[in-house]
Amino acid sequence: MREPNGWTRRDFLTSTSCLGAAMACARFLPAAWGAESIAQDPRVAATPLLDKGFASTRRIGDGVYATIADPTKGLDAMCNGGFVAGKDAALLIEGHFSPTGAAYELEALRMVSQAPLRGALDTHYHFDHSFGNAFYGAQRIPIWAHKQAIPLMVERYAGLQGRDLSAMVAPAEKRVREAADETERQRAQSDLGMLQIVTQTVSSTVVALPNLPLEPAKLPMTVDLGGVKAVIETYPGHTPTDLIVRVPEQNIVFTGDLLFNGSYPVAFDAEMSAWIRTLDTFAAFSKDTLFVPGHGPVCGPEGIATERAVLEDLREHAQKMYRAGVPVEEAQRRYVQPESFKSLRYFSWSFSIGAAIEKFYAEFKAGKM
Ligand SMILES: [Zn+2]
Repeated sequence: MREPNGWTRRDFLTSTSCLGAAMACARFLPAAWGAESIAQDPRVAATPLLDKGFASTRRIGDGVYATIADPTKGLDAMCNGGFVAGKDAALLIEGHFSPTGAAYELEALRMVSQAPLRGALDTHYHFDHSFGNAFYGAQRIPIWAHKQAIPLMVERYAGLQGRDLSAMVAPAEKRVREAADETERQRAQSDLGMLQIVTQTVSSTVVALPNLPLEPAKLPMTVDLGGVKAVIETYPGHTPTDLIVRVPEQNIVFTGDLLFNGSYPVAFDAEMSAWIRTLDTFAAFSKDTLFVPGHGPVCGPEGIATERAVLEDLREHAQKMYRAGVPVEEAQRRYVQPESFKSLRYFSWSFSIGAAIEKFYAEFKAGKM
């Protein structure tokens, strides 16, 4: 069967690193390690520990390594990750998009440490951070996540398996076909690409649920790995399941998708006002903090400031439209990327920018903002 974007279903299913739909929307995804991020912070190693194109891993601290995905070279990892390794134990970060991505993470760790694993942590339930979990399960590595991640993975992913999902994709296909101009077409194309990725992989993925649910009320939790401590904390914003891993003694933070560097944040599960407050909290961390975002290159506090400014720009637009009585669909359509954010990419227009405007509208309506 030929897919509307010209790729056969077989192409899609047999390709391990170069998903057709993904390549179609790769230009919407943020790039890998930027030369500046490496040069700017002396903690970031000049040479990668491991580099397989779709991801590369560098030392960023004492026992701390960041894996940065490069979706333009394949989607096996898709999201960033990394690990923290002490003399007694190690903790892997992220289940990635595929078992190949998770296997990559373990391979990188084993190049520098043979310490037993305490677990692998999904920073939240989203598919690009959890669809590789089955690899960890097969290795008997406990999978940690926010308690709420489990029911959401069951509902949003396992619940879709074995069903005909073409109806989920059809509206985006129609929007691509009927787009009034190039801007509309590009936005629709980015949505179509993302929907194709989700619907076509959900049925071919063994959705492996985290087996070590973390109770949010019991966080923060310090994990002593022997000479290096990782602290797991939870903050609201991107999803109801967001965790971060901090290495406070070295001012390093793995933010999961609470931070997107180089792209608009994905916001379809978001609580916008809470997210802005979370970014204010991150901005108050030490000025020396090195952030490993969920997507895009590592950065300092300037990455937090940019994302906050992006959310503020979306909030201002939404507020102006809301007050003028403009319907939400029209408010979404009218958003124009300002010159200062022109270089930012987006995974999917509707899941990022469109969703953020819709979420702001809902909060204005509820009188929350
Ligand atoms: Zn996410």
